[in-house]
Amino acid sequence: MMIVMRETATEEEVDAVIAKIERAGARAHRIKGARLNVIGAIGDVEQDVSVESLGLEGQPGVDRVMPILKPYKLASSEMTHGHPTVLEIGGRKVGGESFALIAGPCTVESRGQTLDTARAVKEAGAALFRGGAYKPRTSPYAFQGLGRDGLRLLAEAKAETGMPIVTELMDMRDIDAVLEVADVVQIGARNMQNYPLLAEIGRCGIPALLKRGLSSTLDELLMAAEYILKEGNPNVMLCERGIRTFETAYRFTLDLMAVPVLKELSHLPVIVDPSHAAGRRDLVGPLSLAAAAVGADGIIVEVHPNPEEAVCDGPQALRAGEFAAFSAAVEQAAALAGKALSGREPALV
Ligand code: PEP
Ligand code: MN
Repeated sequence: MMIVMRETATEEEVDAVIAKIERAGARAHRIKGARLNVIGAIGDVEQDVSVESLGLEGQPGVDRVMPILKPYKLASSEMTHGHPTVLEIGGRKVGGESFALIAGPCTVESRGQTLDTARAVKEAGAALFRGGAYKPRTSPYAFQGLGRDGLRLLAEAKAETGMPIVTELMDMRDIDAVLEVADVVQIGARNMQNYPLLAEIGRCGIPALLKRGLSSTLDELLMAAEYILKEGNPNVMLCERGIRTFETAYRFTLDLMAVPVLKELSHLPVIVDPSHAAGRRDLVGPLSLAAAAVGADGIIVEVHPNPEEAVCDGPQALRAGEFAAFSAAVEQAAALAGKALSGREPALV
């Protein structure tokens, strides 16, 4: 159920509603928009029934009580009446009118490679720095990431550039080490339906970049997001990274239609990863522009100072030396959708 509070509702009235929901054994999720104050009452099916019978309609400060029709309750745009959620990560906005450029190497390989890339992308306007220390590789014989040493290099990049870090967590046993460095935890496509991992990320509250599974529907992606939200973590970004289709001419099919559709179904920011969809550098530029123009809230792209020598995903890595020109083009495409690069938004006057 969704309880919409009156604009004039006091904090005490909101607290009283929350207390009543919790006494019924359900969980109350408060969503505070610029104008709207909504409380989601989420419980098991039986608890939903008991929440319905609480008589919240007559309670002071309550405007109306409505059912949430979608199976994903907290992720649904019904919950915010169509208002987009804007996340704030290390001072950078993601969502709304801000377009987050997230860039960095596929994997952290060395100090030089990591810091050179971080400096280049920061200089060119990237808002967040990506880099994998734990890599989900198709082959068990392929490089699996530097692990803790990689995390230390990411920490160095953050200390030097100030950019928040996006890095993948694959195994719950690494969660403490990852949380020490990460500002955003990436849940990779292969782990989109790893429900215990999602719930754990939900409990720690760290912002999550949730990638769409290789063969997952948008409903399944939103249900996966719900696992994180349900635990009380509202900081979720959805990420379209290409899906498997019958087409074999390229690696994955980048489903750009997912962007407007997800934004219609959900209030969560939507990020596009053209690098892993394409697997080819020459496609990353045009797909990034298309993603920005279609209204994505950001892109996550792979960048390397010398892609020919990259340990993984070199063929799709943008060249660090060319990243400033790429960023300028993306900025123009984002403007078509009414967005400015996060960190470069026009100052309020
Ligand atoms: C990655 O971002 O490095 C990655 C492996 O992504 P995905 O989970 O989308 O394949
Ligand atoms: Mn990669």
